[in-house]
Formats: sequence, C-alpha cells, structure tokens
Amino acid sequence: MQDVMFMLSQISFKDSSDRWFWDADQPMEFSVSAVKESLQRHLYSSNDNGFFWVNWVPIKVNLLVWRIVKGRIPTRVELRKRKIKLPCYYCPMCRLEDETVSHILFDCRFASEVWNKVWCWNRLRPPDFGSLEDVLSWPNSRNFSTAKKKLIRGIFMVTIWALWKERNKVVFQDSDPKAVEVVSIVKSLAFVWLKYRKKCNRIDWKDWVKYPLYML
Ligand SMILES: [Zn+2]
Repeated sequence: MQDVMFMLSQISFKDSSDRWFWDADQPMEFSVSAVKESLQRHLYSSNDNGFFWVNWVPIKVNLLVWRIVKGRIPTRVELRKRKIKLPCYYCPMCRLEDETVSHILFDCRFASEVWNKVWCWNRLRPPDFGSLEDVLSWPNSRNFSTAKKKLIRGIFMVTIWALWKERNKVVFQDSDPKAVEVVSIVKSLAFVWLKYRKKCNRIDWKDWVKYPLYML
C-alpha cells in the first residue's frame, strides 16, 4: 500500500483535457512516419555497416540485405559454422571455392559477371568490392545527389536479391545459373518496384533498360 501511495504521489494532475503523448527519443508529433523513423533508428543503426533502408524496394529485399549484413543467411559455410553436416561446402555456382557470403555474392566468377553487367548498365566504374559493406557504402562516398544515391543503392539491393534467388534455384531446383537472366530480372524487378511502389510515373521502360539513371 505504501508503494502505491508513493507512486500516486509522483503523479500530478493538470486542469486540462487528456491527450496522447508520444514518448520517442526526440520530441516529435505522433505519426506513422515518426514511428517508422524511430524504429529505423533503433533497428538499423550505424552499427549495421552501411545498411540503409531503401523504401522503393520491398521489405523482403531490405530484410534479406540486412540479414546478410548480420551474417544470417544460410550459405554452406554458415551452415557448417552451425554444425550442420552437408555433402560438400562448395559454392553451388562455380564449385571451386567454399560458399561464404562474400564469395557467393561478390567473389564468385558468376557474381562478378552479373555485377559487371549491372555496372555497364548503370555506366558506373566502381572499384572491386570485397564485402557487402563496401557495396552499400560506395554510393555515399561519391558526389551523387540524394536521389541518385537512393536509386543506385536500391539497384544494388535488387542485384543481391536476384543473385541469392538464382543461387537458391541452382541448389533446390538443380538449374543452370545464367548471368544474363539474373540481370534481366534485376532490370525488370527494379523497374516495376520503382514505377509502382515509388509511383514514379515518368519512368519509361525503353529508356530504363538502356540506362536506369537517365531520369536524374
Ligand atoms: Zn563460386
């Protein structure tokens, strides 16, 4: 009873109407975007090695990239770390080296072929990337406009998504990996998501497939 009396003594009443109070880190009006901003700040902080949420690509793509940054995708080497026995731990695309995250997404000759085609399409000449962090932080190191950074970062994320999906097709459906098809998927998915999720009506498919940064 004493505890209750103490707690009640800490409460002060004011002669005004009740109102909702949004207890975020910083004083701001309550809104859906304020909640989203607060969650992003906590969930995807600067500790996430260059990861930024890109709102024109779907949540599933953002989450995949975030899981990769955290080392939480089931490559064969990651499964071996977790004591899961497999017949082999080779990369399913080239069968030359162990399947680590950096190998399957960047170092593998299949991934390199895909990335080179994506660079050509974007008319970019970035350095050789050794990690996902290098890829995600690269647009920020350039003197690009904010819109251009968002577009390029989103295209990178769609490329990672398409590479991982192709890897899963090879593993689970025993299909042959095809770099040209992966790049076609990147172009079409990025186009659809940008046009309909971002409501970018001025985007034109004929111009997009030639050079996606033409609008900027
Ligand atoms: Zn490989």
